Amino acid sequence: MNAPLSQQPVFRFAPSPNGQLHLGHALSAILNYDMARDLGGRFLLRTEDIDPARSTPEFEAGIYTDLAWLGLSWEMPVRRQSEHLDLYRQALGKLIDRGLAYPAFLTRGAIKAAVTDFEARGKTWPRDPDGAPLYPGDERRLSPAAQQRMLAGGKPHAWRLDMEKAIAELDAPLTWQETGEGPNGETGTVTADPAAWGDVVLSRSDAPSSYHLAVTLDDALQGVTHVVRGRDLYHATAVHRLLQRLLDLPEPVYRHHHLILGPDGRKLSKSNRDTGIAAFREAGKTPDDVRAMIL
Ligand code: GLU
Repeated sequence: MNAPLSQQPVFRFAPSPNGQLHLGHALSAILNYDMARDLGGRFLLRTEDIDPARSTPEFEAGIYTDLAWLGLSWEMPVRRQSEHLDLYRQALGKLIDRGLAYPAFLTRGAIKAAVTDFEARGKTWPRDPDGAPLYPGDERRLSPAAQQRMLAGGKPHAWRLDMEKAIAELDAPLTWQETGEGPNGETGTVTADPAAWGDVVLSRSDAPSSYHLAVTLDDALQGVTHVVRGRDLYHATAVHRLLQRLLDLPEPVYRHHHLILGPDGRKLSKSNRDTGIAAFREAGKTPDDVRAMIL
């Protein structure tokens, strides 16, 4: 994985404190740490705690304990996304001012009902790469004045990217450099397909930034040159690349690594205590045992 010329490589591990770290997180953290060390780079830790309903101080403390036990060290202070909400709001404001984001008023329940209703007629509603239905609302067709009237009503809303308009702003093909591998073996220069995600959420009524917006801004702000993370986020990179272009942010190199699967063949979940790092520690395993299990 080559660093852009004459730049010190900057790696990061960016967990969300909404559960315990498991073997999959350990793999991401260790790969980032080892690559930073081998390339003479920096290793940063970022706490992605923008979702107040799911993030807890206990999970956050557990992450620091687990990573230190694994033998990793990182630069201080740790960036906590909840302390930078204004930054995300400002970036969202820029996209709104350019007419690239619109207020979306359908609740999750209403989205589900609309899709169920549509599919009851034997047709299939389009879904994003994670399997979630694309947004069925049509607020983006409203005039700015009509949007303002709805906003003035005070109804809770999300802000969504107008994907069609955003893509129309691109003046060159959207790609990224993949130094790992996508789900179908994609590597090298990969063509990004953000349209597959539809009008992605940029902020919610209960969280001032979405994952996509915060992760893109923070990677740029922290000077991250190499994004190393699980293959489950491979397709999301298309959205991150689009936001980078819209907000004039630098392009890191990406490496998506294999996922650690449970005995049932499925991706590990944070709620499964058995594969948690803490459980291995309590069972008397060593950090080297954990490394041997995943590397
Ligand atoms: N916070 C994300 C997670 O825990 C990872 C973000 C990233 O590496 O881009 O799944």
